[in-house]
Amino acid sequence: MKWFERRTKPCFAEGCDSRISRRMLMCRKHWDLVPNSIQFAVYNTLEIWESGGSPRLYLDVIKRARIAVAQKEARLNERESHT
Ligand SMILES: [Zn+2]
Repeated sequence: MKWFERRTKPCFAEGCDSRISRRMLMCRKHWDLVPNSIQFAVYNTLEIWESGGSPRLYLDVIKRARIAVAQKEARLNERESHT
């Protein structure tokens, strides 16, 4: 494994193989598709986890973020195929 592979991880969005920083959840493109309220919840629950709380809330929220992105992408693709 190369050094930059150890410092990065794949984007969390469905079907995306972008490599991103370990501190990020998704690549820029996909993160922008996550609704603000969920982005906020991701930061919030990560903080809870990192300060010794349960990771359960965080894991729940990132699942919701992933679903929100998949739904937005499906909608975008649909619009493209109609034009
Ligand atoms: Zn991505």
